[in-house]
Amino acid sequence: MADAQNSTSRTAPADLRRDLERRIRGTVAFDPGTLALYTSDASNYRRVPLGVVIPETVDDCAAAVRTCAEHGVPVVPRGGGTSIAGNAIGTGVVIDTSRHLRAIEHIDPVARTATVQPGVILDDLREAASAHGLTFAPDPSTHSRCTVGGMVGNNACGSHSVAWGTTADNIVALDVLLADAPA
Ligand SMILES: Cc1cc2nc3c(=O)[nH]c(=O)nc-3n(C[C@H](O)[C@H](O)[C@H](O)COP(=O)(O)OP(=O)(O)OC[C@H]3O[C@@H](n4cnc5c(N)ncnc54)[C@H](O)[C@@H]3O)c2cc1C
Repeated sequence: MADAQNSTSRTAPADLRRDLERRIRGTVAFDPGTLALYTSDASNYRRVPLGVVIPETVDDCAAAVRTCAEHGVPVVPRGGGTSIAGNAIGTGVVIDTSRHLRAIEHIDPVARTATVQPGVILDDLREAASAHGLTFAPDPSTHSRCTVGGMVGNNACGSHSVAWGTTADNIVALDVLLADAPA
């Protein structure tokens, strides 16, 4: 049986790397050491990525998605990498939002909402919310290192989800990057 993850047609990494480096301010890495770091998550699975991007801004993230789409290369968003089913690994370009995209932009205690970037660690959000007597209810055991982006990807839950719902139940709106979105 064909491996779906390896069936994507690809351009040479040198071309892809050049275009990513031109358009992105964050880290663009294709060296074996970095690839090795992103070959696993918390699962038993292994997939060596083609490259790794660590965007500094949301615009860098959008440029990475667009550039990979132009080259026919899939992207793998990655937060804390704590997934246990190979969710955060793949043979495309891994986009790690956990390093720089960690801003808690706004907490509205009246509406009981928070606006955050995807790389925010759950415990950091919970600590900020606690100043207003609030919390973010879904609480996976990895709360000290998992990110909100990864929680959305997995629809993460926890012991309090029984009372207050999963991550999907606690999302008001998402800004989503699509591969075919206009620049
Ligand atoms: C010991 C242990 C205990 C756990 N306990 C629980 C538990 O109680 N409940 C539970 O639900 N899970 C649990 N998990 C699984 C995992 O920790 C959680 O689901 C966690 O929320 C994943 O977050 P992460 O930041 O590590 O995501 P990652 O593993 O980095 O990514 C998870 C998924 O989200 C996608 N993703 C990441 N960032 C983005 C983004 N910005 N945009 C779009 N997609 C994105 C990834 O591609 C991947 O598919 C556990 C794992 C371990 C190892």
